[in-house]
Amino acid sequence: MYLMLRGGWWSRGLFIDLSEMKWRVFELDRGLVASFLGGRGLALHYLYSLQEPKVSALAPNSLIVIATSPLSGIPIFGTRTAVIAVKSFSTDTYVDADVPSPIGTALKQCGYDIVVVRGRCEKPCTLYIREDGVFFEDATDLWNLGARSALLKLIHDFGTEAAITIGVAGTKLVHGATVVTKLGPVQGPDIGAVMGSKNLKAIVIDGVKELPIANVSALEKVISRYLEYVKATPELSEWIRAGSVKLLELLWKHSLIPSEYFRDVYVDDLGELSPEHIEKFYKVYSVACPLCPLSCFSLCTVREDKYVGTWSYLDLAHVLALGFNCGIDRLGDVLYIAKLCSDYGIDIMTLGNVAGFTMMCYEYGIIRRVHTGGIAIKFGRADAVAKLLELICERRDIGEYLAHGVDYAAQKLGDYAKSIAMTVKGMELPALEMRIVPEIALLLSTSSTYPDYREALYLLLQKRFHEITVSDVVSARTTVNVLKCLSSCPLVPALLKLGLDEYSEVLKYVTGLEIPSNDLLATGIRVEVMLRRYFLREVPEWSPEFDYPPPRVFEEEVSKEPFRGRVLRRDEYQVLLKTYYREFELDECGKPRRELP
Ligand code: SF4
Repeated sequence: MYLMLRGGWWSRGLFIDLSEMKWRVFELDRGLVASFLGGRGLALHYLYSLQEPKVSALAPNSLIVIATSPLSGIPIFGTRTAVIAVKSFSTDTYVDADVPSPIGTALKQCGYDIVVVRGRCEKPCTLYIREDGVFFEDATDLWNLGARSALLKLIHDFGTEAAITIGVAGTKLVHGATVVTKLGPVQGPDIGAVMGSKNLKAIVIDGVKELPIANVSALEKVISRYLEYVKATPELSEWIRAGSVKLLELLWKHSLIPSEYFRDVYVDDLGELSPEHIEKFYKVYSVACPLCPLSCFSLCTVREDKYVGTWSYLDLAHVLALGFNCGIDRLGDVLYIAKLCSDYGIDIMTLGNVAGFTMMCYEYGIIRRVHTGGIAIKFGRADAVAKLLELICERRDIGEYLAHGVDYAAQKLGDYAKSIAMTVKGMELPALEMRIVPEIALLLSTSSTYPDYREALYLLLQKRFHEITVSDVVSARTTVNVLKCLSSCPLVPALLKLGLDEYSEVLKYVTGLEIPSNDLLATGIRVEVMLRRYFLREVPEWSPEFDYPPPRVFEEEVSKEPFRGRVLRRDEYQVLLKTYYREFELDECGKPRRELP
């Protein structure tokens, strides 16, 4: 029963060799799709099994995988339509991004579930995928264009919005480079650099086939019920009006907003960065990811002052990472940097960290003007962040180090810089305070991919912060893995209070299969085991220290009330980590006891 597929998957994939400019169709094993569902699960499986161990992520034989899920293209539960996955070139870990673009739907409409890309084009290329073939279009004229301009040109030239592109950060192989959709850079550091290393500027997909759905009428009924529920829930209307910046109030109230590169907890008035101020003075309208009724983004413009005329999409990540954590308190400045992130194609949390780290190094005299092209890289200065981006992409002065990320730069800058760096397993951290809710530190530090701020938000939205336990961390991680396999946004079930039973119901109508929530959870655990095995294979010098937050979290006290004096205690964290290992069936060193399926 489980393997008789009536909908959901085509069981077909595309393998594309950029070096040879050839492609072929392959059949997906049906047991495999049933085990991994799609999205993160399938992408990880192919990266694990097809990519040679320890291959350099920037080498031609590294892989890019785009994986859809049975829910791709279904207007329910914020399906982000596809994930794009690579090996990170700076940390060797698996990284993926669930892409808020219709590319996943379009891929399904071409009759494929997954695309695996290998090789390197001889010259800049746009990959154009249709049902009748794969085309390697010359992208020389796009190569040096900013991602926003390149995307508009692609949408115009190909007549479809199912397009993603990289910016100069990607073409210059910068750490944190990612792909850009209409909503800006997606969360997924290094994906853009891997594309850049393959001379792959953009991917456009166009298809017209009907999606494979087992029971259309039953599915339509569930979708209507879901949309009615969204309409009838007042808190959701408020969310749709304000966007994800609405969460700022909650995070602020519970002292979870870090300021000035995690120096302290932000307790002052939210001021210009408050949801009300944003709505009143900057917001033009609300925007959602494709197929999602919850509008997390706001299109904002700067109406006066220095950056007048600048516009950008804005969500919570921008305000946390580019605002508070860089000491920037003017929304116009945040929007200016947000626009640059979209143009350069760089992950917002990564840039916020790189900038904050550099600002702190500058303050402590580790970096001087002579290293920064003459500009004072001080907290609060948007022009300093702009200059840094320029230096990084040109690999000039301090940009040479920062182009590899905070961890690498800290190694080069010496012990004091190393003690400042806020990274876990070499990856920068989301701008969330870790000393107040220890389980947040646990969640972010034990990730086997990159620390994911939406996973942290999923956990924070589950219950009152002081009631969160290690079991909740394990459950959040497992569930978010399932959601990533379904290429679904974790914020939707968190906001709508949905359980996996609701996903099982929808999957039944899409695929014709009964996949109970327990089976979904088993998939989430399977994926976690595989993520960790992938990490251990690529980074063999493992120790449990990899699962610890950076030393500053244990050493630097919060200086503001009501948590003055608070640090994360190492012994307390050790207990949490042991429990986490036990609940995830990892051994005492954090290695999986389970074999891969
Ligand atoms: S909940 Fe927000 S971030 Fe998630 S898919 Fe919907 S609009 Fe996008």
